[in-house]
Amino acid sequence: MDGKSRLFERIERLYDVGLLGQAKVVVAGCGSGGSQVALQLAMSGVRNFALYDNQTLGEENVIRHACGLRYIGWNKTDAVADLLKDRNPDVHAELHNQDLMALPDLDDRVRGAGVVILATDNEPSRYRLNEACVRTGTPFVVGRVFTRGIGGEVYAYRPKETGCLGCLEMFLERKPQRERIREIDLVSQEERDAMYGLPVAEIKDSPGLNVDIAFITNFHTRYALDAIARGLPERPKNMEPIEQNYLAWGNRPVHPFDKHFQVQRFALPPINGCRVCEEHTS
Ligand SMILES: [Zn+2]
Repeated sequence: MDGKSRLFERIERLYDVGLLGQAKVVVAGCGSGGSQVALQLAMSGVRNFALYDNQTLGEENVIRHACGLRYIGWNKTDAVADLLKDRNPDVHAELHNQDLMALPDLDDRVRGAGVVILATDNEPSRYRLNEACVRTGTPFVVGRVFTRGIGGEVYAYRPKETGCLGCLEMFLERKPQRERIREIDLVSQEERDAMYGLPVAEIKDSPGLNVDIAFITNFHTRYALDAIARGLPERPKNMEPIEQNYLAWGNRPVHPFDKHFQVQRFALPPINGCRVCEEHTS
């Protein structure tokens, strides 16, 4: 047995690594979140990736990114692909040095994916991808770290089963704790008004320590594995379905969380009156 074939031998008995390798994962954004999720997926046996990002790795990225100093100046897609192959040589990655959400053929780019990893910090682009995924019936998982790393949230869209991001917004509007998250998140009304596709500068945030981000990227990865498993003909063993498709996690006892390591979660069905779901599903 050569070294390569032994890579997964310690986890093969735990679950069916080979099954996950069949799925294609589209990664929209290879920054601190996307890079960590992609790496975790490759180390879980996922082999087929399409990586999208139009930026290069800067020195200021290194303490929060999966890629370190030796990748400075590399396209983030090239850097992440190199890292994935270092952990799983069977990884095949299509590299696109482009912003996925800006592409005119967005629907074709996501159609057929086992899951789309939505990991950009740009609200309008998230909503554009949301629409494309609802239109094409493609599952996605979005992760977001709240300002200063006080916590974050993960949302899994499951076609024909859960609400979309538009549904989530409508739902959260009515939840009091979300109002307080917006305050601390420093999202201005102007930025919120532009959410549905108007040009607006990216929402600048200060996302805190890598250790705080890692809690969210780990949940993000788990939800992505769950999405892949849902699309396979056979469910991998020891990967029980995750029921609730929304999870908010608090790292610290900072408003709106009142203790360390706090979790809130719920399942969100499609919401009546969601413009995206009404337009793009029948
Ligand atoms: Zn919806």
